[in-house]
Amino acid sequence: RARRAGRATYSFFAEEMNARITSYRIRIDDIRRGIANQEFVLEYQPRFDTHDRRVLSVEALVRWLHPEKGLVGPGEFIDLAERSGLIIPLGEWILNTACRTIAAQPHDIGVSVNISPVQFRGGTLLDTVEKALARSGLAAERLELEITESVLLDNPDEIRPILQRIKSLGVRLAIDDFGTGHSSLSYLRSFPFDVIKIDRQFISDMVVQDGGRAIVHAILSLGKALGLGVIAEGVETEQQFEMLASDECKEVQGFLLARPMPAPDLGKFLDRSPIVSGRQTSDVRLLS
Ligand code: C2E
Ligand code: MG
Ligand code: MG
Ligand code: MG
Repeated sequence: RARRAGRATYSFFAEEMNARITSYRIRIDDIRRGIANQEFVLEYQPRFDTHDRRVLSVEALVRWLHPEKGLVGPGEFIDLAERSGLIIPLGEWILNTACRTIAAQPHDIGVSVNISPVQFRGGTLLDTVEKALARSGLAAERLELEITESVLLDNPDEIRPILQRIKSLGVRLAIDDFGTGHSSLSYLRSFPFDVIKIDRQFISDMVVQDGGRAIVHAILSLGKALGLGVIAEGVETEQQFEMLASDECKEVQGFLLARPMPAPDLGKFLDRSPIVSGRQTSDVRLLS
């Protein structure tokens, strides 16, 4: 009986495993097909100056316009794209598209692009970044790469020189979802970051939890002490916005001010924005 039960259990797991492997393969193929068919699109979420709500830059966020499933968020496919290595060609497309789209805007805003840890392992990231800048004509100073803390833990001694070379192009480096990883503070300092992005969990805790605001305050102080910019992400309410403004957080991003939007809407959004960063704006300001 025990043997039978054992075998039954085994075959049950074997079947389940087969099913999993099959759907895994299908989905990798699906991503590969999606890349070949150009089904991926980028949305752009503006980042604002806290003082005057002027748009400083945008974050590029990938979506999949799937022929059957409709609009699919990155949470559904980034992990698989990473495990299959397809994040390398996909990430290259994302960098090229983000740089080209923002270089084509009449406003001088910056763009920030999320980079997966896996893109550091391919050995081609520096080259990909240089090419994206050269092809688009975007000034390196207008590009920022967002990297999560887990990247640093992966293989710090390999990653540090890559980051340094990218930074020496003039590209800015931001640490994304700050406070959610496991890297130590002194460790962070040994990497050439320009910006800290406070994870949105801390922003939501700020108004509902004792000590929540103290944590945000501490991150802001840390940024100041290390000479790093700090941006708060996931700002959803006026109350959060006001707290961040009075705590001297200079930059914010979140649904309160703007949701991620497709490129054509971004153009319209920037045209409507009272003040936009860059040449155009300063010209307008000089005239008025
Ligand atoms: P992330 O880089 O931390 O991006 C911020 C996420 O928070 C985005 O979700 C954005 O839509 C969402 N968000 C922005 N403001 C608010 C807000 O006020 N409230 C709430 N609840 N959410 C807000 P999204 O687009 O689903 O992206 C999720 C994650 O997927 C990103 O987190 C990033 O880690 C990854 N990702 C997105 N695009 C790319 C990409 O092009 N390449 C790579 N490697 N990863 C990407
Ligand atoms: Mg990000
Ligand atoms: Mg984030
Ligand atoms: Mg995130």
